[in-house]
Amino acid sequence: MSKYVDEIIEKVVRENPGETEFHNTVKEVLTSIAPVIDANPKYQNAALLERMVEPERVVMFRVPWVDDAGKVHVNKGYRVQFNSAIGPYKGGLRLHPSVNLSIIKFLGFEQVFKNSLTTLPIGGGKGGSNFDPKGKSDNEIMRFCQSFMTELQRHIGQDTDVPAGDIGVGGREIGYLYGQFKRIRNAYEAGVLTGKGLTYGGSLARTEATGYGLLYFTKLYLEDNGMSYKDQTVVVSGSGNVAIYAMEKAQEFGAKVVACSDSNGYVFDPEGIDVALVKQIKEVERGRIKEYAARKASATYTEGCKGIWTIKCDIALPCATQQELDLESAKALVANGVKLVGEGANMPSTLDAIEYLQSNKIMFAPAKAANAGGVATSALEMAQNSMRYSWTFEEVDEKLKGIMASIYNASKNAAKEYGHEGDLLVGCNIAGFLKVADAMMAQGIV
Ligand code: NDP
Repeated sequence: MSKYVDEIIEKVVRENPGETEFHNTVKEVLTSIAPVIDANPKYQNAALLERMVEPERVVMFRVPWVDDAGKVHVNKGYRVQFNSAIGPYKGGLRLHPSVNLSIIKFLGFEQVFKNSLTTLPIGGGKGGSNFDPKGKSDNEIMRFCQSFMTELQRHIGQDTDVPAGDIGVGGREIGYLYGQFKRIRNAYEAGVLTGKGLTYGGSLARTEATGYGLLYFTKLYLEDNGMSYKDQTVVVSGSGNVAIYAMEKAQEFGAKVVACSDSNGYVFDPEGIDVALVKQIKEVERGRIKEYAARKASATYTEGCKGIWTIKCDIALPCATQQELDLESAKALVANGVKLVGEGANMPSTLDAIEYLQSNKIMFAPAKAANAGGVATSALEMAQNSMRYSWTFEEVDEKLKGIMASIYNASKNAAKEYGHEGDLLVGCNIAGFLKVADAMMAQGIV
């Protein structure tokens, strides 16, 4: 591998102690773009990688809020504005107790390349808080979101930085965040946030976009290898936004989804998961997936998440969270004859799991490419906001399909061009990197 790449990886590990998730993503991306770096000494001369691994700006702030009993709490708030070479920073906000600077930097770094792949003009950023939305009342969520936005609004704008949802941030939270932004700024800048409700500037098909996009991408990948979703057995982890719409589209394509999960455990339903019931439990009642088995006779519930990967399936779609599919899980999937693993969540597979899958010739659809449909549709929402106009569901869905096809082809072609034919992970990193690199080179040392 390129000496320059090695040096930068060492520097990142040395200068960002303890930020394991960030180290891992930098290693993954830089290792796979090494052939491009070797072929282009101009990048080293311009210290391009040094600049790319350093966020343009990191904002950290306190978020004080008062619970329903009158007790005061203080959480940590983050916004990492990673790279604006090709457009305003764009990326979600995550509310989860595990959130720390390393996780937000890892997500922000990934977002830079993912956004570049979408073919749309969006830079990369990410934010969030270690606030735990679980078990909080609507009013507590609202007060937290208002406090968070009171600081965040200084740093964002429709031409500067456009946050969206992520784990723990759905339509309800985006509504509260936008309400507070509008109140403080006294301007109807709808393009400042995406994932908005349809009555105030949201885009049709945004809710479905990440899950549907994952299915459009993996369908093309299967077809390229002489297969299809029809009659395949599919396991999907998670039961949130990405998982629900991935299951819905998989069924529409003729597959049988037999399992899904939440952070407590998983359900196995050999008759096929009833997605409407999952929606009712997780989206409407905000309940636990365990309740699915209580309401559907053919289903069983198992406590603990990891066991989901021991279920026999043709296609595995990890759609829950980072590092949920480890080497042991990969071995179980391969032993059970899995054909394709498609990442709906961000970095759900550990590096050794990916290596194992690829060395066993399992088709691997990497997150950065396969789950980019969500942010791509967010960019379509920004476009609609700028035009003060809305497209129909079908129009957005068609554009999404086209974007997923471009991402698939760009990843496939880049892998081939740089001697890694069939390796979409290398391909998507290279394709995403090249656009950002060229823009940064053109813009001088900034
Ligand atoms: P949600 O908060 O809607 O759902 C997350 C789901 O994963 C919940 O069902 C949650 O369970 C479950 N979960 C969390 N941890 C685990 C675990 N260890 N094992 C099993 N299940 C778990 O988030 P999203 O669906 O929006 O996001 C899921 C992933 O997709 C994240 O990695 C996110 O970054 C990524 N992503 C999301 C996009 C989007 O448009 N929403 C776009 C691109 C990527 P519980 O109900 O118990 O919390």
